[in-house]
Amino acid sequence: MNSTCPVCGEEGRPILFGLPSKEGFEAAERGEYVLGGCVLPSEPVNRACPNAHRWDDRSAATP
Ligand SMILES: [Zn+2]
Repeated sequence: MNSTCPVCGEEGRPILFGLPSKEGFEAAERGEYVLGGCVLPSEPVNRACPNAHRWDDRSAATP
């Protein structure tokens, strides 16, 4: 399921939190993930777009 940015409409990618494995870094370099860093944000976000917008597509899934 794709999730597009609510701000700019770019395709969202899953945010990978914490220190990624070697595979995680490689996947991020391929554009499969966005690295979110080791600190969890105050708001729940799990998607990021190439323009650095972040959002949570779980809460947005409400019909
Ligand atoms: Zn965006």
